[in-house]
Amino acid sequence: MTLQLSDPDLLRSQAYVDGAWVDADSGATFPVVDPATGDAIAQVPRMGAAETRRAIEGAERAREAWAALLAKDRARLLRDLADAMLANADDLAAIMTAEQGKPVGEAKAEVAYAASFFEWFGEEAKRVYGETIPAPMPERRIVVLRQPIGVTVGITPWNFPSAMPTRKAAPALAVGCPMVLKPAEQTPLSALAVAVLAERVGIPAGVFSIVTGDAEDAPLIGGEMTSNPLVRKLSFTGSTEVGKLLMEQCSRTVKKVSLELGGNAPFLVFDDADLDDAIAAINVAKYRNAGQTCISANRVLVQAGIHDAFVERVVELSKTVTVAPGFDPAATIGPLIDEPALAKVARHVDDARARGGEVLLGGGVHEQHGRTFFLPTVITGADMSWQMSNEETFGPVTAVHRFEREEDAIRIANDTPFGLAAYLFSRDHARIWRAGEALDYGMIAINTGFISAAEAPFGGVKESGIGREGSHHGIEDFLELKYMAWAGIR
Ligand code: ADP
Repeated sequence: MTLQLSDPDLLRSQAYVDGAWVDADSGATFPVVDPATGDAIAQVPRMGAAETRRAIEGAERAREAWAALLAKDRARLLRDLADAMLANADDLAAIMTAEQGKPVGEAKAEVAYAASFFEWFGEEAKRVYGETIPAPMPERRIVVLRQPIGVTVGITPWNFPSAMPTRKAAPALAVGCPMVLKPAEQTPLSALAVAVLAERVGIPAGVFSIVTGDAEDAPLIGGEMTSNPLVRKLSFTGSTEVGKLLMEQCSRTVKKVSLELGGNAPFLVFDDADLDDAIAAINVAKYRNAGQTCISANRVLVQAGIHDAFVERVVELSKTVTVAPGFDPAATIGPLIDEPALAKVARHVDDARARGGEVLLGGGVHEQHGRTFFLPTVITGADMSWQMSNEETFGPVTAVHRFEREEDAIRIANDTPFGLAAYLFSRDHARIWRAGEALDYGMIAINTGFISAAEAPFGGVKESGIGREGSHHGIEDFLELKYMAWAGIR
């Protein structure tokens, strides 16, 4: 299928380095594949260290002038970029569905979410206030500036091809830092389309570059990004394993890092929960993006008194989920990103069966679509010995654990090295406070499945990461404090 776009210019097969659309030095390319069909949509450059270095040097050249612009002028450009994304939302959504697979309506919602970061951070950067501190000596003044950290780099995953790049680039650009971004090899086209619009609205050359590469190129691109002394900050979203490696690499030149890594989200449903709320949340926290998000509910812990009613409702909900290619208007979930992703989900389900789990619905590959399409699956009898209780399943599988006491649920929920998002459902305010405070997670969703917003601090604790994205906290990661000690004021 060829992609039908109102503006075919948004689909690029070159990278965007220092204000120019370029091929790899070697001329080598790799295919971007539609996960629904396995067909190549486009070829993009296989870049490495040399191209990445050039992008970083371009960013360094652009840095001073970009940082010297008035915050309101940067904000205007970012607002124009957000507007351009919204004006082209249908095309951006089509590109995203083609490379990532999510239903086109969901892709369009992601485009709006992705654009919101440019709008919000542009406005917020007008309020990067400094500080004066009462000094311990009469002739002294203590003044603190908050200044852009310098050249930044971003590395993003495939599950949110537009929002992950913009969540990083928006705060960086807003406060005056250029960014060189490496999108995931599975989904570079959405990031490149944002760069087309950035160029169109007049973001200067070098301020926002995109370097593309295949899986084998990622260590070369990442190696340059993490070793180049011009780079002052890395923002990474992806696996804990790669995050740890990049953090280690960044230590050699003491770069600031923010990491948004894996999760293993518990979803706690207490006896006094509103079932409608909990089921509406499962629909989001389990089936959005076919369960391929780092905040997807991974362990669904349900109290004994509501367990059977909850399971019945999840099965009912899951029967309404339509598995189909993302361009099919009926689709509520599309394909998984690739065949290895499906193999992992199938392995988790087989493991659950072998350990006595009861598969009430689904449990296998979609008969008609095959390959990367997994059925909505509901399994009961889960416990912490299961593979899926310890690793992210990243698929449309709801595995239900039964618990008796609140303290058991909290203990099980915290029994993981991860700490990104947790969900809790209860109508008892005291319980919500108790559980909310006891859960070792960076984000707690209370009676909802939606938590992501540009206004809110997104991020995790423990091995789920460092730092926060979104909100005024997200801007801090791109700023340095400078203390000025003024003496001689007599
Ligand atoms: P996922 O399991 O979501 O694919 P990864 O951590 O493997 O998570 O990938 C997230 C991003 O990190 C992708 O852009 C990928 O290309 C990149 N990446 C993977 N390995 C490295 C590496 N060694 N150095 C730099 N980037 C890497």
